[in-house]
Amino acid sequence: MFRRPSITFRTTAFVAVVCLALVALDFLNSWHSRAVQLKQMSVATSNLARAMAQQADDTIKQADTALIGIVERIQHDGTGPAALDRLHRLLAMRVNELPQLDALHVYDKDGNWVVNSREEPPQNLNNAQREYFAFHREHAERGPHIGVPVRSRTNGKLLIPVSRRIDNPDGSFGGVALATIDVEFFGKFYDSLDIGEAGAVALILESGTMMTRRPFSVEMVGRNMRETGLFRAYKDQGPVGTAEILSAQDGITRLNSFRRLANYPLFAAAALSKDEILAAWWRETLWHTGGVILLTLIVGFVGWRLVRQMELQNRTEAELRRARDALEKLNKTLNTLAMEDGLTGLANRRQFDVTLDNEFSRAMRDASTLALILIDVDCFKQYNDIYGHAAGDECLQTIGRTIASLAARRPGDLAARYGGEELAVLLPKTDVAAAAVLAEKIRSAVRDLEIVHAGMPGGFVTLSAGVDAFSPAETPSPPKELIQSADRALYAAKMAGRNRVCTAMRSTQT
Ligand code: GH3
Ligand code: MG
Ligand code: MG
Repeated sequence: MFRRPSITFRTTAFVAVVCLALVALDFLNSWHSRAVQLKQMSVATSNLARAMAQQADDTIKQADTALIGIVERIQHDGTGPAALDRLHRLLAMRVNELPQLDALHVYDKDGNWVVNSREEPPQNLNNAQREYFAFHREHAERGPHIGVPVRSRTNGKLLIPVSRRIDNPDGSFGGVALATIDVEFFGKFYDSLDIGEAGAVALILESGTMMTRRPFSVEMVGRNMRETGLFRAYKDQGPVGTAEILSAQDGITRLNSFRRLANYPLFAAAALSKDEILAAWWRETLWHTGGVILLTLIVGFVGWRLVRQMELQNRTEAELRRARDALEKLNKTLNTLAMEDGLTGLANRRQFDVTLDNEFSRAMRDASTLALILIDVDCFKQYNDIYGHAAGDECLQTIGRTIASLAARRPGDLAARYGGEELAVLLPKTDVAAAAVLAEKIRSAVRDLEIVHAGMPGGFVTLSAGVDAFSPAETPSPPKELIQSADRALYAAKMAGRNRVCTAMRSTQT
């Protein structure tokens, strides 16, 4: 059958649920704020990549625009001394205008220096071996070409070559116009970006060559990036994307965003360290978790104390109940002891007196008759003398049982030990005749027990009884008068020779 769980169980469950809810809420909250943090950072890296791509595109575009002008000029004006002189001035002017440019160069079809933007005249150098030169010689396209970074032979700087092919009027290869962009120009811009301690940014050719990066290292410039996670992610996700990549070099996991330049085959990549991104979140989460643990401990402790208190109270209540039950039982026993005669089990004198008073009053109210039988064992002193006091007690007990079985038939009847070997039967709503009949029944029943009594003429224990009854409503007199008249009748019975019943009016002899 279903039993309602105890209050302590329910309290324990409630406290446990509250603690669990606290922990779960904090966990969910932390997890959510972590996701928000990462999302914000993904937006930040993608904005960085967009800014870098835009800057690189603009930077290259300006150099390329200068090249378009130079190519057009050479194809139109040729390379006569006057034209070259004008061209030299134009190149120098362009380099002055554009801070990203290291220099502008023009090479003939064999790679010899024709003119450049520098003040000193071209030295007798040949650039036919450079990658961009070979590229234009072999490819007829007229678009821009962005080559792998090279180190300048004149000033030792790392340069990114942007070049265009110069065609002869017949369409054959006529040479190359070259703009060199200082790698450091990008570096300055990248230094102005806030990428934290462990962040990184890079500009990479779509063919897989690293142009430059932050943090800067010379060895990284020109390095093949095709096998890196970043390059693979770019190839997989297309011109714009985001990827979480574990760096093979420093073991740091970074959130990478990349974006292709609008007009040139390069892409910019910006990465922030995941640990750095989440550092603030971690701090916050630790504080939270600490707080929640403390709160959970407090709630758990208070709940535990509460449950203990309840258990204690329950135990105390149960003990009190037990004590009360024991007291009630004791009280009953004491009550019984107080009202009962210890030897015969009949009512004692005290109860007899109380009942007599009560029944007297009731008889007065009801105008009914109250009868009393007083009984005395005949020659009992002698019985004691012959058989001993213990046998006397036993005899009294037997007589008591006999009287109880005969007398207490109706609810109001009361058989009592009046004192010593004297017994009394109180009979409400009974007249003297009916009481005498009962007395006679008792007398003969005890005689028929045939308890041997050597001192008696009949040889057995006998009783004498005095009976009286009166109606208090008719004859106003105190209860003791009833006792006295019954006692007188008893005396009369004794006088008449014992073993008989006498009423207050007349005596009966058997
Ligand atoms: P009778 O009443 O016939 O005149 O003679 P009796 O010998 O009974 O006389 P009495 O009433 O004077 O004696 C009462 C005796 O009953 C005295 C006492 O030895 C004895 N007795 C009274 N109470 C007890 C009791 O509780 N136990 C025992 N064994 N004897 C008792
Ligand atoms: Mg007596
Ligand atoms: Mg007697």
